[in-house]
Order: sequence, then structure tokens, then C-alpha cells
Amino acid sequence: MKKSSSDKVDVRKGTFLAEVAELWPMAKGSLAEVHKPCIRPTCPACIRGDKHPAYIYTYMAGGRRRCMHVPRELVPRLRQAIQNGRRMEERLVQKGCEMVREYRRERDMRDRRKGTA
Ligand SMILES: [Zn+2]
Repeated sequence: MKKSSSDKVDVRKGTFLAEVAELWPMAKGSLAEVHKPCIRPTCPACIRGDKHPAYIYTYMAGGRRRCMHVPRELVPRLRQAIQNGRRMEERLVQKGCEMVREYRRERDMRDRRKGTA
């Protein structure tokens, strides 16, 4: 049986979704380590100037930059999620380029066939 172009699209969609599943967890934004002073007046870490490490997740929502405090134990998972999110964005850009290139290729083949007929 001859495969229609929609079968081809379904196969690609399945392949792409399987790739995307491998990229879970995903997030978009950035993670920064900051050093904050605490409220204890005699804290040795603050007196030394070391202060206390804290992690901040910065992201855009509704066109505004926002941030959230991140519990230390979540940092590795969130860091991985942000990295995966960047890979996902790269894949989406590739998909857009592929879509345009493929359309042009198929259109040119159609035009060529028409031209020789
Ligand atoms: Zn302190």
C-alpha cells in the first residue's frame, strides 16, 4: 500500500514526541546562586562576608521578569530541566526549518513534474 503524506507526518510526529519525552523534566528560565545576609547580628558567616547561598529561579511571565526562591534540594533537578528546555527550543527551531525546506522541496518536485508533462 502506498503511504500518503499524512502517514509520513504521523511517523515523524511519533518520533518527535518520543524524543521530547526523553527531555522531561523541562523548564524555561535561569537559575542563579546568590549570597544573602541573614538576620542574626552575630552570624559568623555574615561577619566574614560569606553570607548564605540561596538559589533564585528567574523567568518571564506576561512580558515581565519574575523570580522565585528555589529550595536547595530542588536545584539539580531544576538545572537539568532548564538545560532540557533549551534543547527543546533548539529542536523546535530545527523543526520549523525542516518544515519550510521540505515544503520547498516537494513544491519544486511538483513544479518539475508539471513542467515536463
Ligand atoms: Zn548569616
